[in-house]
Amino acid sequence: MPLFNVNDNYQNPTAEGYYGDYGGAYIPEMLYSNVETLKTQYLQIMYDPIFQAEFQYLLKDYVGRPTPLFLAERLSKEIGATIYLKREDLCHTGAHKINNTVGQIILAQRLGKKKIIAETGAGQHGVATATVCALKGMECVIYMGEKDIERQAPNVARMKMLGATVIPAKSGSKTLKDATNEAIRAWINEPNETHYIIGSVVGPHPYPDMVARFQSVISEEIRKQLKEKTGSELPTHVVACVGGGSNAAGAFYHFLNEPTVQIVAVEAAGHGVHSGLSAATTQLGSPGILHGSKSIVMQTSDGQVVEPHSISAGLDYPGIGPLHAFLYESKRGIFLSATDEEALESAFHLSKIEGIIPALETAHAFSVLPKMNLKASDVVVVCLSGRGDKDLATYMEHL
Ligand SMILES: *Cc1c(COP(=O)(O)O)cnc(C)c1O
Repeated sequence: MPLFNVNDNYQNPTAEGYYGDYGGAYIPEMLYSNVETLKTQYLQIMYDPIFQAEFQYLLKDYVGRPTPLFLAERLSKEIGATIYLKREDLCHTGAHKINNTVGQIILAQRLGKKKIIAETGAGQHGVATATVCALKGMECVIYMGEKDIERQAPNVARMKMLGATVIPAKSGSKTLKDATNEAIRAWINEPNETHYIIGSVVGPHPYPDMVARFQSVISEEIRKQLKEKTGSELPTHVVACVGGGSNAAGAFYHFLNEPTVQIVAVEAAGHGVHSGLSAATTQLGSPGILHGSKSIVMQTSDGQVVEPHSISAGLDYPGIGPLHAFLYESKRGIFLSATDEEALESAFHLSKIEGIIPALETAHAFSVLPKMNLKASDVVVVCLSGRGDKDLATYMEHL
């Protein structure tokens, strides 16, 4: 049955942060000691019992975990398979992002940092970062593309209300890639006092592994909850949308070495994969270095990053995390895509059929279900990464 070999390397990159050929830490000299400290200490800090006690406490009483695993009955009937929704939209602040920011803020405290910087696309990571900074009384500066500041106004207001400074990135496409460039630049200017909370499984090692481990609580819970509901810990498929890939990494993590579980990643095809307005990185990209690690990157033949497009700010990114590049290349995961229009349609449909308004990012994951040729015996878990409140302005244009 398995079409692939399971590989320990999926959960455990090499000491230098490689998943197969992808990963590593390609950073300027100025950041070397900072990243090196993180690299030598992160596992020790994360798995220290006192750290774990605080992390688990905050996940439970602040974030609201465990999040439910919900049997979507009407959707299941329509698709012809059993579909469960992992309700990350019910996390405090409305998406999975806070699982990671809670972990990283405790880590930043342990490292004696005074200030936090972060990049954000849809604003969910910015809000999740501003939230934990407020919780811990830390200074917080968020970099956000000027275009995203316009299309995600409610999240900008939330960040400001939480006490963060929001700095617009005005270069390039004025979206997530540009915000990340600005955040890295700021980090280089004051690396010692500052911890950079990266919001996805991207960036230099150890960030991709660290973020995947913080987010892996998602699949840890899915296994337990599925066992209670079906008698088996293993679904036949796990489906998640991929921007940088953190909700997907979290949902896949504890299934990566289970050969019977099909991993399905969904990228944003924008106006269509080959339309010139797309963010379907695996379909359009090639090996390259972006934001500190080697991965698959949308780029021209001479290595210029191609401006991506997606209706959802959280998927509007020209790369993917190195773990996902390796899942794609080794065929451990199937990579599908959904267009802007398909995502919008799915968002409206899920709202009507299950009473859940998903984030535009999340809606991409639902778009592929009818195309998966599912059988009645299949048990599918879809990672419902976030709620749609932040996207209401976009939804209103299409009502
Ligand atoms: C940020 C975001 C994403 C995309 O980021 P990943 O790191 O790929 O998970 C997806 N869904 C929601 C709701 C988000 O806020």
